[in-house]
Amino acid sequence: MIIDFSQPVYNYEDLITDAKALAKKYCNILKYVTIGKSHDNRDIIMLKLGVGKKYILFCSGVHGRETINPIVIMKMIEYYADEFENIKARKESFIKKIKHYSDKTLDHYNNMIFGKCIYELLQTYTILMIPLLNPDGYMISLKGFDVLSDPQLKKKAKEKGICFAKWKFNGRGIDINRNFPCRSWKPKGTHDYAASENETKTLIEVFHNYKIKCFIDFHSRGKYIYYYRNSMNEAYNERQLKIAKLLSNVTKYELVDGKQEIDYGDSGGNTVHYFSERFYRPALTIETVDEEAGFPLDIEYRLSTYEEIKLVLFELGACL
Ligand SMILES: [Zn+2]
Repeated sequence: MIIDFSQPVYNYEDLITDAKALAKKYCNILKYVTIGKSHDNRDIIMLKLGVGKKYILFCSGVHGRETINPIVIMKMIEYYADEFENIKARKESFIKKIKHYSDKTLDHYNNMIFGKCIYELLQTYTILMIPLLNPDGYMISLKGFDVLSDPQLKKKAKEKGICFAKWKFNGRGIDINRNFPCRSWKPKGTHDYAASENETKTLIEVFHNYKIKCFIDFHSRGKYIYYYRNSMNEAYNERQLKIAKLLSNVTKYELVDGKQEIDYGDSGGNTVHYFSERFYRPALTIETVDEEAGFPLDIEYRLSTYEEIKLVLFELGACL
């Protein structure tokens, strides 16, 4: 096991070390790539899981303070890669066990079939996993503003007067999830323009470099699934709803009513809006962790969130 939920703090450096270790251990199925640099010079990485020619994209860590999802996504990668690697061993062990039929035989059989489905999934798809799009914001929210090595950035961030644990922005104090060009985007000041940030540009580049069939952006809090797009037509929203319902079945998260897609007065510019409008393919936001959870988020949420969302990928593979 590489990803350890019991470590009290999961730093950016730990994530990078673990990502490299996973790519080394599961080299047949997992590739590590650096896709961009944050404004404070941290790597933005992506793990490519699978060997298929179709693509699904999972992203997390857009907002700094949402510190649970990055390690959970890492654990999901380990889980699926491990299932893929073990399919042969499972089949052999099942054949051995079937010779001595017991009340556990059906469980063994189901386990083997489940493993086989994951094997097929990763033969058909490559899952692009960006566990931490905003490493500067993530580190600020874990440790405070001194993690910024650029003195200008540090000064500006401190001047915002926000408690570090509640920091949702990137290293330049910009909300990445309000920085994507889309129909709902509005400037929040005279020097505000869409796609101004390194993190935004990095994700847009991934969107355009691969023919992605579905994009899921993981955020926290609320245990909700956002699927409705006011800017899109009925057929698009019907498909979104169909997928959202299936994901709601596996996660037990609630669907957000279409009318509540964007709060009144919100400046717009979300990752999923750009993807929906530009590519006309499914894009959903999944909000993990209880609505009332305070920041910093309790690390107890790692395991429960993992159990809730680990089958999202399995379900998507079956329904797309
Ligand atoms: Zn968020």
